[in-house]
Amino acid sequence: MFAGMFLLFLPNLSKIKSWVGSWISNPEDSSNLLNQYSQSITNVLDLRLLATVAVGTACELMEISRGYLFLVDSDTDEGGQKIYKLRGVRGMGSEDPESLKLQEGSPLASYLYQNYKPLVSSDFEIHSTYKSLSKEERRWLGNLNAGVFVPIHAKDDWIGLLVLGPKTSGSGFTAQECEFLNTMANQTAVALQNSRLVDDLVRLNDEFRRINNALDQANRHLKRLNQARTDFIAIASHELRTPLNLINSASQMLMDDPELQKETYYQELLSRMHTGSIKLQEIVESMMDMANIDTKALVLEPQPVFMQSLIRLVFEELSIEAKKRKQVMVLNDLEKLPLVLGDAPALKKVFNNLIINAIKYTPDGGKITISGSELKAELPEYPYGGVEIIVSDTGIGIDPQLQELIFVKFYQTRESTFHSSGKSKFKGGGSGLGLAIARGIVEAHEGKIWVDSPGCDEVKCPGSTFHVILPLRASSSTPS
Ligand code: ADP
Repeated sequence: MFAGMFLLFLPNLSKIKSWVGSWISNPEDSSNLLNQYSQSITNVLDLRLLATVAVGTACELMEISRGYLFLVDSDTDEGGQKIYKLRGVRGMGSEDPESLKLQEGSPLASYLYQNYKPLVSSDFEIHSTYKSLSKEERRWLGNLNAGVFVPIHAKDDWIGLLVLGPKTSGSGFTAQECEFLNTMANQTAVALQNSRLVDDLVRLNDEFRRINNALDQANRHLKRLNQARTDFIAIASHELRTPLNLINSASQMLMDDPELQKETYYQELLSRMHTGSIKLQEIVESMMDMANIDTKALVLEPQPVFMQSLIRLVFEELSIEAKKRKQVMVLNDLEKLPLVLGDAPALKKVFNNLIINAIKYTPDGGKITISGSELKAELPEYPYGGVEIIVSDTGIGIDPQLQELIFVKFYQTRESTFHSSGKSKFKGGGSGLGLAIARGIVEAHEGKIWVDSPGCDEVKCPGSTFHVILPLRASSSTPS
């Protein structure tokens, strides 16, 4: 089968074989033969085929029993030393030959990359320099049991190696045969380079396909996890809501009971219970909002909203928290903003989350500014214009690399100092849902939300600026 394969490339091989006895003494025959070989491999782009033709030609002509083609790549090892990696391509026989890494200093590597002529195996016994061959190299040579090693160079690079032999007759390789093999190796160089390029591309392609499959799999896994997380939030929040309402209303009733009001001890306990249940209710409500956003089940009830009133409401509710932290809160230029068609309770949550964050991540004595401006109908995404609300603080700021991630649910930029029950404790951790909910609500209004900050620095406090754009509709109008 093998002979048949390369006979396709050397159709008149039998004629050539009849020259074998004479080609060494007849340079014309030898050169004809090499021309034939060269032509037969010109268009071969498949490494294995090239190995078959190259090794097969040599084997057939010189009565050699086996042979291999090795690809040679130079690299560096862990210690920074140059090495040559020999990767075998099956030429003849049923198994790929064993690969080998040769140190640059190895006598075998030195010979093959420096000399542009074959090395016969008898040299290993004759020359003392080969005494320093490593155990691994000796084992590799022993397994190959070859008669001749023919290096293939392209310009100054050692790119391949033909390993041939021994001859079936048992005799060694003559100087003329070595010369012939050397010329053959030179003629193989270009075809080897081309087929290596193709082989590299095929390998790269395989690698891409493998990575792509792995990515696909990871993606599917992530989707399943995300779905499980969404399902968990939805189920947990739904299941928690009813019992919490019961605890909440029962604790309220007990607190209002005139008999119990006389008992300060019970009043204290009931008040703690009630505060805890309110906090839990807020968390459950956030989980419900998140679940609705995730499942695209958020229902908006749009109505004309006057942003100044809405923000002032949030501002007033949170000013007590700002006061606790000795922070100044300022409202700027909100009065002339046009009416926005939106869901007021949902939008209130957006600004509540942004302002409570501004309070939490700003040190005591800092400043929080909420300002607004109207966007003219100039941008294609806001054909009727829009309203931009900016919440800026003089807080610790946010690393630019994290400015998108903080809008992902449960993402927190840092180990929170502690998950305090206090609403506005400096750097006090929350549920990690605030900004994800804010983005979900703003996007459900077809708006945009993002943050600008030069970076996070708890000493210099460069601050953060959150932007919210809400589009105007044809029916929105400016308040009179
Ligand atoms: P959390 O409940 O942790 O506050 P959020 O979704 O509201 O969750 O915020 C996510 C993270 O974004 C916060 O943990 C915090 O690290 C960061 N962050 C949000 N707002 C600010 C801000 N104004 N200044 C600095 N960091 C902020």
